[in-house]
Amino acid sequence: MTTEHSEDPQRQRLREQLEAIHIRTEKATSWHDEAGRLRGLLNNDGYVPVRTKLAGEDLDFLGDARDTLLTFAELGLRLLDLHQPRDAGGITSDTAHPILRCRSCMWRWPCPTFRAMSESFGTPRVPSPA
Ligand SMILES: [Zn+2]
Repeated sequence: MTTEHSEDPQRQRLREQLEAIHIRTEKATSWHDEAGRLRGLLNNDGYVPVRTKLAGEDLDFLGDARDTLLTFAELGLRLLDLHQPRDAGGITSDTAHPILRCRSCMWRWPCPTFRAMSESFGTPRVPSPA
């Protein structure tokens, strides 16, 4: 395995796209606290008239945020479908807890992909400082 210099171009392109999304998202302002404050201002029609200043980085993020999130959610669901446990078969002394393996990557369950997803989505995000 000599991969350092010759990463698969498709893999490299994917990495660059993901890094670009990450950088664009990091630069955008978090709306977490502001959304909470604005929620209290909803009018009877269910809207809040907003006047705000948006930085260029915020517009970059907002312009693609919906599509990007939909893509990520779809990716997550596809990974979840791919990486699920199955009985590994064979003889075990503990019939109540049979050895399970991932049906896709064959690692012992929970596989690294599922664990990475659990760690990413299972932990609530700490709100960024205002
Ligand atoms: Zn797996």
